[in-house]
Amino acid sequence: MYTTNFSRRSWVEINLDQLRRNLALYEERLPEGARVIAVVKADAYGHGDARVALELNRLGVDLFAVSNIDEAITLREAGTEGEILILGYTPPELYGKLLEYDITQTLVSEEYAESLLSLSSDVKCQFAIDTGMNRIGLCADDAEACARTVEKYYSRCNLNGIFTHLSCADGVSEDDREYTEAQLYRFERVAERLERLDLPYVHCLNSAGGLYYADECKYGGFVRLGIVLYGLKPDRSSELPEGIRPILTWKTVVSVVKDLKSGEAVGYGRAFYADRDMRIATLPTGYADGYSRRLSESGAVYIQGKRAPIVGRICMDQMMVDVSDISDVREGDEVILIGDEYTADDMARDLDTIGYEVVCGISKRVARIYKK
Ligand SMILES: *Cc1c(COP(=O)(O)O)cnc(C)c1O
Repeated sequence: MYTTNFSRRSWVEINLDQLRRNLALYEERLPEGARVIAVVKADAYGHGDARVALELNRLGVDLFAVSNIDEAITLREAGTEGEILILGYTPPELYGKLLEYDITQTLVSEEYAESLLSLSSDVKCQFAIDTGMNRIGLCADDAEACARTVEKYYSRCNLNGIFTHLSCADGVSEDDREYTEAQLYRFERVAERLERLDLPYVHCLNSAGGLYYADECKYGGFVRLGIVLYGLKPDRSSELPEGIRPILTWKTVVSVVKDLKSGEAVGYGRAFYADRDMRIATLPTGYADGYSRRLSESGAVYIQGKRAPIVGRICMDQMMVDVSDISDVREGDEVILIGDEYTADDMARDLDTIGYEVVCGISKRVARIYKK
């Protein structure tokens, strides 16, 4: 695909300085010696994995996690140094790539471990332990049996770790806390039976886990840090530590300014009719850029720091906003779609989803620009 280097149509600016601050502020709160495994799956939650990982390398992070082998290879080809762990499934026909690029593979089940072994015993791997998420991994209900299975594969594969994933560490209810503590307890029962193996990587905390459970967790030596690195909240109700801020701003420009007479219709389906004379601006960003069509009529953008409500339906590549109350809007003016005035977490609230989905949904068509 041809791309202009700097697209002043629809673009996101990534603040690498804020990335550094987020990492430092988060690390400050961790127990002494705990290390960050930077989760840069899904193109670093839409922020651009190659560039983000390189910056993290520069800041001293050398442990990374991704969701699949394509992401892992992208990082390696961009020059990422250190360990790269694939958190999910890799099809057997691609096992060779794991060796070729020095990638660590998660063993998602005992059957999967066998299938990997039938091709190679050299691939670095870590066993996922299921403590209550019920997604992947060995069941930890019977700690003794679980540990025995891990030991069996330790002697046959290049196994360097075990990990589990918390399903509700971001929840605020007493119930969520109990469930999370039960998950940690199950993991500890397995991990302590494996201590004599001296596995280098034993981990169980995600962003929220590191914020709320690091002190009471016996195996808190690593935190798989995703969403908070990007300055967003794991959960809508939680507050982030002071100073941690979003690192992404999504911008577009005004392409056309138009005066409407009362009674005129705007956009597809004539979903909006002006009930007074008004001025609207057209913006060259639409749902194909990842701007959710569900924000039609209800969302807003910011121009000159002022709120401009979306009018009519969001189109594939364009949208229209009401600028009647903003003076002197012109073609080429910068528009904030996501920024300080309206964060990805704010948009998530309006869409009844989570910030993760909002930033992951900003499409490839939108240029990523990095600022220090
Ligand atoms: C995505 C993911 C993480 C990161 O979660 P955040 O909430 O973004 O910190 C950690 N561990 C696993 C297994 C994941 O899939």
